[in-house]
This record gives sequence, structure tokens and C-alpha cells, in this order.
Amino acid sequence: MSRIPSRRTVLRGLAVSGAAVIGFDPATRSWAATTSESGTTLAGIPQLDGTLVTDASSLAAAADDYGHIVHHRPLAVLRPGSVRDVVAMVRFCNEHCLPVAPRGQGHSPFGQAQVQGGLVIETATLAEIGPLGPDSTTVTVGAGAKWSDVAKATTAHGLTPPVFTDYLELSVGGTLSVGGLGGQAHRHGAQVDNVTELRVVTGAGQLVRCSPSRRPDLFHAVLAGLGQCGIIVEATLRLVRAPATVRHYHLTYDDLATFLDDQRILAQEGRFDCVEGQVHADADGAFRVYALDAVAYGPPVGPAPDDTALLSGLRHDPATVQYEDRPYYDFLNRLAPWVAAAKETGVWTYAHPWLNLMLPGTSAATVSARVLNALTPADLGPMGVILFYPLRRDRLTTPLLRTSDEAVSYLFDVLSAAPPDDTAAVDRLLASNRAAYEATAEAGGTHYPVGSIPFTPADWRTHFGPAWPALESAKRTYDPQGILVPGQGVF
Ligand SMILES: Cc1cc2nc3c(=O)[nH]c(=O)nc-3n(C[C@H](O)[C@H](O)[C@H](O)COP(=O)(O)OP(=O)(O)OC[C@H]3O[C@@H](n4cnc5c(N)ncnc54)[C@H](O)[C@@H]3O)c2cc1C
Repeated sequence: MSRIPSRRTVLRGLAVSGAAVIGFDPATRSWAATTSESGTTLAGIPQLDGTLVTDASSLAAAADDYGHIVHHRPLAVLRPGSVRDVVAMVRFCNEHCLPVAPRGQGHSPFGQAQVQGGLVIETATLAEIGPLGPDSTTVTVGAGAKWSDVAKATTAHGLTPPVFTDYLELSVGGTLSVGGLGGQAHRHGAQVDNVTELRVVTGAGQLVRCSPSRRPDLFHAVLAGLGQCGIIVEATLRLVRAPATVRHYHLTYDDLATFLDDQRILAQEGRFDCVEGQVHADADGAFRVYALDAVAYGPPVGPAPDDTALLSGLRHDPATVQYEDRPYYDFLNRLAPWVAAAKETGVWTYAHPWLNLMLPGTSAATVSARVLNALTPADLGPMGVILFYPLRRDRLTTPLLRTSDEAVSYLFDVLSAAPPDDTAAVDRLLASNRAAYEATAEAGGTHYPVGSIPFTPADWRTHFGPAWPALESAKRTYDPQGILVPGQGVF
């Protein structure tokens, strides 16, 4: 159905590039200026509370992401002024068979939030935080809210979501569509395991409230669902009490298997509130320095940390133990200095062909050793990082967040950076990511889908395994025209 654009829409809408764009020309599949360039009737854009833009710089920004490897240019970018705008534009895109991708902070590294010839919906304007739920056990937030803002707002009440990604400037919708893993996940599961309700705009343009008991098929298809069935516009998040301060221990190991085994023990015992680890190169450039980060929350969440009890039985090099006490928010925001340095040195704009694997506990040491032995500091690039997080199967309850079937798995990340114009290096790293994924899959693991691994629809079917039929069925029900998030390459 064609709608007549209102004067308000024209003024608030597509006028950024100079020409007042008033509609979509189905014949040329382009947004059109004051008259139809092809002589056909224009489809007027819906009345919007926000803005729809087509200027070159907005389109170029939407055709880029943290990876700087893939560039798919959309036709337009929506900055919604309301959830109603998202509904209206998804319906419009259905009518005209235009693909759509929501974009949170665009920190995907491989085009996941991009869409060639379609519409990008920037969710940053849907960032309201509050209200707190009954008994202050939940908070409802807009999908475009950043975790840093959620943390600041909730800690002001002495409360906090239980799990955070290491980097806080990611959107709630962006991490809930992939999983959201951090060092607290061994105790509380992923961020997706701590959501009680969602409001979602389906691919068919319906605004639906869903939870584990209300439209559970949609709820479970959206959490860690890579945006395939619906756009999250609002999420209700579980809250727990926040500590005032934390004690952050840094322990060093010289043996990979021992380091991983101590991470496993800590994950199974739950002795610490947060457990992570990194691998560094030694003086010879070999990746064999293993750093375990373990964090104990202080009052009012836990007792004052007892160093002897907390470190007892661990097999780190005792001469290297360091710790610091820090305010809780500073601990959550611990990546900020690294990000500031990456921006200052220009590394932020490097290509990021990231590898993110879910390794089964029993083969984690052998599979990761193969990757680490083949890696050089030059491959990792400036400010590259290698991470290990231990994860417990019984804490990960979201069907679409895939890991191994073993009781303990490890998230193993090789976060490389290469100069943006060094396409040979990027291609080489992408090929080695693919080889590492294949070795992992053979060992019973999979990947965590926030990286840059060339993947086919058949790979996705293998990746989702027993969860695939429910996802496929939800896709048919909720996105029948298949317009949502082609950048993930799932369907
Ligand atoms: C520096 C850095 C540190 C990181 N640290 C961690 C970490 O510690 N733990 C971790 O788990 N991950 C981490 N990540 C990965 C990150 O969680 C994912 O890439 C996440 O998807 C990025 O969020 P975003 O808001 O930028 O999403 P985008 O990149 O904008 O989108 C990601 C995907 O989700 C879809 N999407 C976005 N919003 C919505 C929505 N509202 N509804 C439905 N689908 C949507 C997009 O279409 C796209 O397919 C890190 C990434 C970076 C760059």
C-alpha cells in the first residue's frame, strides 16, 4: 500500500544529502527525490518519529564495522525515534522485499550487522534505562542501551546485572543476539541466560512481548539468535546485588595444561566471582606465558577476601602473584585504557580478523596449543590479545548459545589486528581461522559467533545442531520473507 508522505516526514526524514527524498521507487529499488525518476508511483515512507537518512557518510558508516573487512552498503539508515518507527519500517521493508539489519554499536568484525541494498536500523536511539522491576530484581532497558550505561544506572541502586562482557560499550541488543560472555559466566551463565522478558519486532513487523512462559518459541529464537527472527527493542534483565569493591588477582603459569586445569577447578568450585585468562608471548616470541585473572567480590556481596583461602591449591608461580583492590565499576570498565590506547595509536581502525572458539574441556589444551604454536606475534598484530574463559555447561541454558557438550568448555579467542590495507595478511588469518574452526569442530567444539570465520549455511546447521529445527521453524513463522540480518549468512 502506498502512503502519502507527510510534510513532517519529509522534513525529518531523508533530506540530509540535500535532495528531499520522499519515497521508495520500487522500479529502480532506490529512495527517490521529489518526483519519481522512473515514472512509476513512489511508495511513500511511513510517518516517523525519528529519521531515515541516505547521505553518503551515514551509508558508508553502516557499510563498515569493527572488523573493517566486509563492506555492504545499505540503501538507507533508520534512526528510530520510537519502537513504532521500527515496526513501521520493518513492515515497509516486507512490502518491498528489502533486507533489514539492526545495528547496535557495530562491533561485529565480519559484516554481521551490514546489509547490501537494504535498511540498517541503528538502535542507539532506543536506549532508555528503567524502570526497576518488582523487588528491584530486574531492570527493563532499550535494546540500544550500552552496558556501561546499564552498569552505571543499576550500581547507583547497589544492583548489577550478574554478567558483563569485558568491553562495556556494546549494545544490549547486540550482545543478547550473540550470547554475551564474560568472566562471571562460569557462575551465572551468559547475558542471554539472565533475561526474563523481551519486546521484539518480528521480521513480519509484529511487536511481540515474549518470555520463557509467553511465546517461548520466539524468546528462545531471539536470544543468541543472531537477529534472524526478530529485532530486540527492549529487554528485561535480571539484577543481583553489586559489590562496592573487588580484589583482582593476577597469577602466572608456565604450562598451558596446568593453567587450563586450574581455570576448570575454579569454574567448578565457584571460589571466585570472575575467572578469565590471557596468553602472552615470551621473550622468544612463543605464546607460552599464561596469565590467570581471578576476581573476588567484596562486601556486601562476599566476605572480605581471604588471600590464603582463595589461592589455596592453585599451581601458579607463587613469586608472580599480584593483586589490587578496586571499585566495582572500575573493574567492570577495565578495558577502557586499552581501548583508549588502541584509538590513540590507530590500531582501533585496523582490520580485526578475530577467531572465537568454544573448545571442549578435554581437548582444549591440544587444540589451542596447535593454534598457538602456529601463531607469531606478527600474526597477532599490535595490541592483539589471546583470551581463555572457562564455561560450565550447566550454567548455559539458552538453546541457541552453542558450546561443547562437556561439563566445562573454554572460550578461546585470538583477537588479531592487521593493517587495513594488508589484504594478504587478512586473507591468511581468515584461512587460518577456518582451519582452527575445523579442528575445533572435529574435537566436538564450535565457534562463538562474534568473530571472522568464513561460514556457509551448512556450517550454521552443524553449529546449531539439535537447536537447528526450532530456529528454522521460528524463522519461517516470524520472518517469513527472510528479510532479517543476511550478514550472518545463516539462511
Ligand atoms: C573490543 C570488543 C570487545 C568485546 N568483548 C566481548 C566480550 O567480552 N564478551 C562477548 O561476549 N563479546 C565481546 N565482544 C563481541 C560483541 O559482544 C559482539 O560482537 C556484539 O554483537 C557486539 O555488540 P554491538 O552492539 O556492537 O552489535 P552489532 O555489531 O551492532 O550487531 C551484532 C549482531 O547482532 C544483530 N543485532 C544488533 N542489535 C540487535 C537487536 N536489537 N536485535 C536483534 N539483533 C541485533 C546485528 O544485526 C548483528 O548481526 C567484543 C567485541 C569488541 C569489538
